[in-house]
Amino acid sequence: MAEISTDVLIIGTGPAGSATAALLATYGIENMVVNRYRWLANTPRAHITNQRTMEVLRDLGHDVEAEAYMHATEQDLMGENVFCESLAGEEIGRMKSWGKHPLSRAEHMLSSPSLMNDLPQTFMEPLLYSTACKRGTQGRMSTEYLSHLQDADGVTTTLRDRLSGREFQVRSKYLVGADGGNSLVAEHIDAPIEGKMGVGGSMNILFKADLSKYVAHRPSVLYWVMQPGADVGGIGMGLVRMIRPWNEWLIVWGYDINEPAPVVDEEFATNVARQLVGDPELEIELTSANIWTVNDAYATHMQKGRVFIMGDAAHRHPPSNGLGSNTSIQDSFNLAWKLAAVLKGQAGTQLLDTYSVERAPVAKQIVTRANKSIGEFGPIFEALGMTGGDDVEKIKASMDARTDPGDAGEKQREALRQAIAFKKYEFDAHGVEMNQRYRSDAIVTDGQMEPAFDLDAELHYQPTTWPGARLPHVWVFDHDSGAQVSTLDLCGQGRFTILSGIGGEPWGDAAREVESELGIEIKTHVIGPRQNYVDHVGDWARVSEISDTGCILVRPDQHVAWRIEELAADPKGELARVLKSILAR
Ligand SMILES: Cc1cc2nc3c(=O)[nH]c(=O)nc-3n(C[C@H](O)[C@H](O)[C@H](O)COP(=O)(O)OP(=O)(O)OC[C@H]3O[C@@H](n4cnc5c(N)ncnc54)[C@H](O)[C@@H]3O)c2cc1C
Repeated sequence: MAEISTDVLIIGTGPAGSATAALLATYGIENMVVNRYRWLANTPRAHITNQRTMEVLRDLGHDVEAEAYMHATEQDLMGENVFCESLAGEEIGRMKSWGKHPLSRAEHMLSSPSLMNDLPQTFMEPLLYSTACKRGTQGRMSTEYLSHLQDADGVTTTLRDRLSGREFQVRSKYLVGADGGNSLVAEHIDAPIEGKMGVGGSMNILFKADLSKYVAHRPSVLYWVMQPGADVGGIGMGLVRMIRPWNEWLIVWGYDINEPAPVVDEEFATNVARQLVGDPELEIELTSANIWTVNDAYATHMQKGRVFIMGDAAHRHPPSNGLGSNTSIQDSFNLAWKLAAVLKGQAGTQLLDTYSVERAPVAKQIVTRANKSIGEFGPIFEALGMTGGDDVEKIKASMDARTDPGDAGEKQREALRQAIAFKKYEFDAHGVEMNQRYRSDAIVTDGQMEPAFDLDAELHYQPTTWPGARLPHVWVFDHDSGAQVSTLDLCGQGRFTILSGIGGEPWGDAAREVESELGIEIKTHVIGPRQNYVDHVGDWARVSEISDTGCILVRPDQHVAWRIEELAADPKGELARVLKSILAR
């Protein structure tokens, strides 16, 4: 007999587990989250926090979003992505990244109410975890997942209290494995994983040193060091990453995965830092060092019965593109409202099957993208002549040749410029971050074809209300508060929402009837002149893709569930049909 019972047991307090706990607690679902360690992330692994993730935080509360900004390094200090021979040495090239280029910044500003920023995992996890615990989550540290057994009514999980060594059991209706890249939960449900683990070796060296004089004039989170004779492996070159501007740093350095991992002591770390910074006298304060492996693997299915996996448990890849923690938090936004709807008796259990259908393709996409991004450094090495063997003098000569006058030099300079510019697929891939469109039984088609992308779908976000896409953001004027609010602010918060225009009021009446028939809550908003929300600028009219009398039904995770061009003959009947289908009723 289990000693403890809860509705949802979550293994892992990383970004995935803590976000799931925070969302479930916000939706009023009893949950418990456990972590085998004493506390949360002790190193700032994840940092690039994209707009979609910030929208999830905003949905948790404007206070949560505001606290993230308070701890984050702002977008303006992120994007002078530098390639150099060392921080003190010659700069090889630069590309504006993470929405720093004015054209890219305009796209960022048009597509979301939230801002990209650099928020180290050491701040993100406490924010999510404390939000969860404040709202009702039972958090248990030093508690290790060992195994689980599921039956028709629930899951019995065996955990070990690492302080006393005592094993105990928790009975829950659902179990979420957010236990990271070496997930035991994924192993225990035999999650089908494609790809390879351990394709490269990397180490993190975390240190303090004031490097302002090398970097403050070209503010960036990433400084890529390409040196002849430098040991490479892992991510392929030396990376000096800003943790806090400009006195806390993380060096990412490769090692040969086929050899034993090196011992990173004070002397080793200082030497690497001196080499990459290019200052033989540099004194550092080593904070910590750890070894990790580059993975290239994703789950093709993320559920077995009452057990789900998410985050790195389902997608295991290098940090390139900064997608890991972001995708983990976005997995949780997809699953949490579905679990809540089923647990509240508002939806049939088949709704839960749509989690894997919607998120497994994203797992594959981001793992593929991140690994491809590593390969796309190749042309930079080639343009610099760094690929032809180990002869340091020869490599130096090839690198120097880019300063030569004449055709060969000009060609080399052009090849280098192009190779660096192509890295926008890693450092400015706004489309990868924002374009997720779902296809599943939790979406009802309006019969329209999916709109094709006018521009490169990896680089550019394209708004659409096509069912399955994220609701486009535009600012509308809120009569009550006198402020501009985002269309995303009108939706979410665990509820379905209907957006319509003048003449679409019958959708509101229909919603009230369907609410009482299905026992769910549906917010309704009319956007138009003299309504609660006014579209003075006409932005909503431009992106809504429906007429004023039509409506858009938005899911709690801000994805469009369904839309209809014009008022239906029987709005209540239509709405009930659609929601019953989505909720598997
Ligand atoms: C150098 C580096 C830079 C990165 N940069 C970025 C970035 O800029 N942006 C980004 O989005 N991502 C980045 N990432 C990736 C990001 O760190 C991960 O994708 C993210 O941490 C995954 O979150 P998660 O919650 O799925 O797993 P994790 O963060 O790994 O958390 C797993 C949790 O499960 C717990 N756990 C594991 N096993 C058990 C068990 N048996 N019992 C109990 N608890 C258990 C762990 O203690 C931990 O709490 C980076 C990673 C690295 C290494």
